[in-house]
Amino acid sequence: MSRIVVALGGNALQSNPKDVSAESQLASCRLTAKAIVSLVKEGHEVIVAHGNGPQVGQIVSTYETASKTAGGYVMPLPECGSMSQGYIGYHLQQSIGDALRKEGINRSVATVITQVVVDRDDPAFQNPSKPIGSFFTKEEAYKLVAMENGYVMKEDAGRGYRRVVPSPMPKRIVEENIVRTLAEAGHIVISCGGGGVPVIEDEDGLKGVAAVIDKDLASEKLAEIMDADVLLILTAVEKVAINYNRPGQKDLDTLTAEEAEGYMREGHFAPGSMLPKVQAAVMFARSGPGRKAIITSLEKAEDAIQGKTGTVVTN
Ligand code: ADP
Ligand code: MG
Repeated sequence: MSRIVVALGGNALQSNPKDVSAESQLASCRLTAKAIVSLVKEGHEVIVAHGNGPQVGQIVSTYETASKTAGGYVMPLPECGSMSQGYIGYHLQQSIGDALRKEGINRSVATVITQVVVDRDDPAFQNPSKPIGSFFTKEEAYKLVAMENGYVMKEDAGRGYRRVVPSPMPKRIVEENIVRTLAEAGHIVISCGGGGVPVIEDEDGLKGVAAVIDKDLASEKLAEIMDADVLLILTAVEKVAINYNRPGQKDLDTLTAEEAEGYMREGHFAPGSMLPKVQAAVMFARSGPGRKAIITSLEKAEDAIQGKTGTVVTN
C-alpha cells in the first residue's frame, strides 16, 4: 500500500477544451473517477489535486463581462479560485463517490477548500505573467485597470488585452491537518484545487492575493507534507520526451533528478506545461528517501503505479 498524491491535469476535467459546459466536465470526471478508484481498489491511499485554468477563467470572464454594465463589480481572484474548487470538487466527489459504490468500496469523498500560503516577497509579484480571463480591447483594458485596484493588463500576441497575475511558489498548506486526518481515516480527499487559493500571512491572519499557484508545484508541496510515497502527475501524454515533437523525439521511461536538470537546461520541456511537472517531480524525488514521481496519462494511471509505463522520476 502506498500513499499517492494524484495531480489531475486539464484533460481529466474536460476532454474537449472548447466545451466548458458543466455537463461535459461531469462526463470527464466520471472517466477520471474510474482511474482514481482503480488505485483505491488496489489498496492505495489517494489524495487528489487538480488544475482549474479553464474553470477559473470562465468564472473570471463572467464577472468581467458583467462589470461592463452599470454597477458592475469584478469578483476578486481568490474568491473566483475558491468557487472553482467547489465547482470541480462537487463533480469529483459525485463521480468518485459513485464509482466507489459501484465497486462496493465503503469510503467517503470530501473536497477541502484549500488555502496555500505564499511569500509576500516572492519575486513573482514583481512580474505578473500568467494570463487569465477574457480578451479586451485597449479601451476596455484601461477601464478595468482604472476601476479595479491591482489589475495588470498585457497585450497578448495581437489577440487583445488580457489580465496577467503573478505565479508565486507555494510555501505552506493551511488545511494540511484536516487533509491528513481524512486521508488517514481512509477517505478520498480533494485538496489544492487550481494550486490552492493563494494567501499571504501577517499578524492579523490570512489574506487572499490575486495570483495563481502552479498546480503541479502545489501538488508537490502537498505530497511532501502528506509524506506521500508517490506523486502521480496525470496529463495528456504517456511519457515525458526529449526533443518533443521534433526529429529525434525520445520518450523516457526513467529520469533521475540530475538528468532532468540537464534536460531542463537544454530546454526540452515547455514552460507552463511540461516544465513545471518535471520541476515538481524533481523536487519531490529529492524531498525524502524512497520518494518517486511518475508522469503519465490519465488512461495509464493504473499501469504506471504497477510499474508498467510512465516516466518515473527518482533522485
Ligand atoms: P496539464 O493540463 O495536464 O497540466 P499541460 O497541457 O499544461 O497539461 O502540459 C502537458 C503537455 O505538455 C503535454 O500534453 C504535451 O503536449 C506538452 N509537452 C511539452 N513538452 C513536452 C515534453 N518534453 N514531453 C512530453 N510532453 C510535452
Ligand atoms: Mg493544460
